[in-house]
Amino acid sequence: MSELHCEKYNILPSEGNRSRKKVKTPSKRENAKRNRYSAKLLPTFPKCGHVGKPYQPFQCISLLTMRDIKIFYDSFHKTSEKITQDNFILKHCSVTDPKRSRKEQEKNKPKYMSVKYYVKRRDGLMVNVCRQSFMNILGVKKDRILNVVKRYKESNEMPKERRGGDRTKGKNNTKRAAIKEFVESLKCIESHYCRSKTFSRIYLPAELNIRKLWRMLNNTVDKDLQGTSKGKISPTSVNSYVWTELDHQRGSNEIAAALYHTLSTFKFSESTKVVRLFCDGCGAQNKNSIVIGMLSHWLLKCSTPNIDKIEIFFPVLGHSYIPPDRLFGQIEKVIKKSPEITSPEQYMKVIENWGSIYKLGVDVPVQDWKSKVQIVMKPTSQWHFNLQVSKRIIISKTETGYAVRGESFYKNDMGTNQSLLRRGRKLDIKPSTVDIGMPLKSDKKKSISNLIAKHYGSNWRNDEALSFFKSAFDELPLPSTSNSRDCNEANTELFCLEETLDFDI
Ligand SMILES: [Zn+2]
Repeated sequence: MSELHCEKYNILPSEGNRSRKKVKTPSKRENAKRNRYSAKLLPTFPKCGHVGKPYQPFQCISLLTMRDIKIFYDSFHKTSEKITQDNFILKHCSVTDPKRSRKEQEKNKPKYMSVKYYVKRRDGLMVNVCRQSFMNILGVKKDRILNVVKRYKESNEMPKERRGGDRTKGKNNTKRAAIKEFVESLKCIESHYCRSKTFSRIYLPAELNIRKLWRMLNNTVDKDLQGTSKGKISPTSVNSYVWTELDHQRGSNEIAAALYHTLSTFKFSESTKVVRLFCDGCGAQNKNSIVIGMLSHWLLKCSTPNIDKIEIFFPVLGHSYIPPDRLFGQIEKVIKKSPEITSPEQYMKVIENWGSIYKLGVDVPVQDWKSKVQIVMKPTSQWHFNLQVSKRIIISKTETGYAVRGESFYKNDMGTNQSLLRRGRKLDIKPSTVDIGMPLKSDKKKSISNLIAKHYGSNWRNDEALSFFKSAFDELPLPSTSNSRDCNEANTELFCLEETLDFDI
């Protein structure tokens, strides 16, 4: 019984593994390509009325039936591959030089070629048709047919695919070269086993694996960059410049002074060639001629000889998140939690966690770059590029001095290098120092004192914690530390700049 039972079951080939099969979905590009060359309309029967009378070569109606036309159409649209279709068109056209040179009107170009169009019938007869019929039958446009034929006539070559192809080739060449160089720099151990075949074989130390090698490679690469957007935010890498409304304005002079201080005190490595700066495109503070003039001066007069270029990047508004924003986010997180802030020192205590603090006007002098730059440099309206739309500005050393160019794209270099100096002027700026201290506007004073009186009572002047406001309003001599103002507005006003610098070779 059991033997019989076994006979029922034949041994079948196994079905292969049951892992999920990958379904390859065509990409957007592939889909678009297929749609572009697939049939859209059904063929139409010729309406031209060519019946092959004497002296009329076309026989669009007399020798073709709808069935012939449909079969011809189907064989053209069997594939939606452009090249196969182009070959089909070529096969059913014949191109020759024009027999007569017509001179109908002088403005018309002379006829370049004459083309005959054929439709193949079921029995193999090639029927000469007019161009309009040929177009209607295949459902293609005039330009495509003529271009295919013209290219064939000019080069005598069959159609080739010119679209698409490898678009990424060469993208990683430098990376590949760096990896190769790294691998070649590794020290290997000779093999213990000396067979004739493996005579030249050497081995890496056994403790290395791919992950370790990858880390080693990354370490060698990172040496070239001093500071990146992914770097850690710490007092050693971040300079925070603080000042209050009572000390200085919030303008290009202050930004230029802070940036000048950072650039002058930063220790550039000897191999650094390019300094890249990233900042938002605020016209009043960063994106202006004063900052550019200061940078030009620094590059030419103060930088080390190995640095020959400064690039300033302005990320697209609202689409970027530069490292200073990261820092502001962290500071804001802490400040939001403190119920009241009555002195600038409280802010500084928070900032200290992430950046080294420099008080503008106290630790770092504010120079009057503005008036000096305006003397030697042309106004922005006379520049050879539009500052407003520039996404990158490149200042570089040249043999004769320096040159600036603005680029309105991030990847394409199209601008021309030119000096921005006025005629006969030299880039030698010696700015004078601006004194610390700013008068407070009277209506602002009023509204803030009202606010404080509301919150702390009318006797707030006796409160020790509010001594900063007291001295600010009464215009007493200020303590030597820099000072902040009120808790409502100071958040954004106090810290105007943290420039994070990226350096690259
Ligand atoms: Zn016709």
